[in-house]
Amino acid sequence: MDRRSIIKNAGIAGVLAAGAAPAVHAQSTLRWRIASSFPKSLDTLFGVCEVFAKKVGELSGGKFTVSTHAAGELMPAFGVLDGVSNGTIEMANTASYYFFGKDPTYALDCAVPFGLNSRQMTAWMYEGNGLKLLREHFAKVGIVNFPMGNTGVQMGGWYRKEINSVADLKGLKFRCGGFAGKVLERLGVVPQNIPGGEIYQALEKGTIDAAEWVGPYDDLKLGFHKVAPHYYYPGWWEVGPQLSLYVNQKAYEGLSSEYKAIVECAAAFAHTDMQAKYDARNMPALKTLISQGVKLHAFPKDVLNASFKAANEVYSELNDTNPGWKKIYTDYAAFRKESNLWFSLAEASMDDFMQAQRL
Ligand code: CA
Repeated sequence: MDRRSIIKNAGIAGVLAAGAAPAVHAQSTLRWRIASSFPKSLDTLFGVCEVFAKKVGELSGGKFTVSTHAAGELMPAFGVLDGVSNGTIEMANTASYYFFGKDPTYALDCAVPFGLNSRQMTAWMYEGNGLKLLREHFAKVGIVNFPMGNTGVQMGGWYRKEINSVADLKGLKFRCGGFAGKVLERLGVVPQNIPGGEIYQALEKGTIDAAEWVGPYDDLKLGFHKVAPHYYYPGWWEVGPQLSLYVNQKAYEGLSSEYKAIVECAAAFAHTDMQAKYDARNMPALKTLISQGVKLHAFPKDVLNASFKAANEVYSELNDTNPGWKKIYTDYAAFRKESNLWFSLAEASMDDFMQAQRL
């Protein structure tokens, strides 16, 4: 044993004898910011940032603090991908399909029409290849992504006039979430990609004819029913839309292993928390909407069939033209096939039976 080792060992022994072991991984204090693509009024979508920030603070004993910023406060709603990518901000929470114009592959991190439901999406991300494949995709722009929220199947939106067939979609100026427009435009819809905080005004002014947002809980807050009374389901373009936490890659790599684990755990906690909120809050909100005169309708079967056909045409074209999309979509579609086979058995038969009981 050389002299240095003797001194080192004696030092540790001395500390242990004194009963005061030093904190092996003393953490430095850290202040980060997270930008949301959503307005503060939406306590589920913006609220997921607050849930995440609170949990990071608790898990780090108050040493790692995160301030939350609504859409437009530090950057525009749709500016968050670039903001995190170029290091203007450390983190963001958003719906990745907003960025389908840069590359449709982003939509696979959120939702594509007739895609995975909420549970299937989480299974693909955590247990299948989803997170691994999407991490490779986001690494190209210097972002580390985590699942952080899901709304469950969305509603099909608010319309001034009834939609009785595919023909009624022709020329309809419709605000819809991101990538869905790629499919809807094949049915004659004129899709509009408008941030949540600006939809009501556009609908009220008549700039758009119809709009979808999420589901009863959020839609009631935004007040669409006051100007468009026909409320349709299901939102087949958003079967299990996932929200994501984006972390600047360099900033993430600079974190200690403990802080990295805290980010991962807080995001997973917030991920579950958002779905729980929607599942619990949507029905009371729908009852309120119906009591205020909203007319609830299911989309006609021909709309679903035509949309399904159009969606598959879009996927087939993307497979031929975008190798990055094809790599991830191939895995996604295989997972969907297997998972739907499983869900069609015990899950679906129990759901069908229980939901028919009206208990
Ligand atoms: Ca939506």
